[in-house]
Amino acid sequence: MAKLKLDKISADPPREAEKEAYKEKTKALQKAIDEWQNKLYAEHKHALLIVFQGMDASGKDGAVRSVFSEVNPQGISVHSFKVPTEEETDHDFLWRIHKQTPGKGMIKIFNRSHYEDVLVTRVHKLINDKTAKERMKAINDFENLLTANNTHILKFYLHITPEEQSERLAERMEIKRKMWKYNPGDAIEAKSWKEYRKYYEDCFEHCNEVPWMIVPSNKNWYKEYVVAKAVHDLLKKINPKYPSLEKE
Ligand code: ATP
Ligand code: MG
Repeated sequence: MAKLKLDKISADPPREAEKEAYKEKTKALQKAIDEWQNKLYAEHKHALLIVFQGMDASGKDGAVRSVFSEVNPQGISVHSFKVPTEEETDHDFLWRIHKQTPGKGMIKIFNRSHYEDVLVTRVHKLINDKTAKERMKAINDFENLLTANNTHILKFYLHITPEEQSERLAERMEIKRKMWKYNPGDAIEAKSWKEYRKYYEDCFEHCNEVPWMIVPSNKNWYKEYVVAKAVHDLLKKINPKYPSLEKE
């Protein structure tokens, strides 16, 4: 894929997009996703893996909460990848990831993912460019392996501007409901915005065999619509069906 420049892509909704109309569309998609998920579960042939990446406060948690709010909890689960534990770092970087992939009939959401191993680790110079290249190749092979096993993958980058991020991080110090998310480390990470952007762009270029979707995420209502639409459209394309009784 040609080099993609994040600062050339708008993080805002298109000018003509109307908030209320989009919220209505999202509601309809949430209900349709529930219907499709039921069929996916019943048919038990395909799995769906949904990867969310983005800077701190880009709205990963909110996307998970909104888009899948109608889905039967039995058919879906979320895993949030944090700083690896000692046991995890004693293994190859995909060890903890592979264990979390969805089985047939299931939807799995990754809140952060194997991409942290070629992002935060590069920003903090825990790995060099050569290792990053090797890891990106391993990621492509891994994603192709999953795809060949009927695991369909969607990868979303939630795209916000540094200004929007500053506002959201400030809210975590001011609004009671958001204070639990406050992490003094976020302000320090935010200073490395340019490095993060560079390494994200590298991922988009080198790990695009399963393509990335860049989601304009400065407005949550638009982000939720874009993600819901992509999930819905993929499920529709997979087109799972309720099995019928075997004829004697
Ligand atoms: P928010 O976006 O709302 O701030 P979050 O995803 O940052 O939420 P936290 O619990 O604040 O959630 O942070 C998780 C941290 O774990 C992130 O800083 C992320 O970079 C880090 N992390 C995840 N995977 C790895 C990894 N493989 N190596 C190093 N750090 C990692
Ligand atoms: Mg954080």
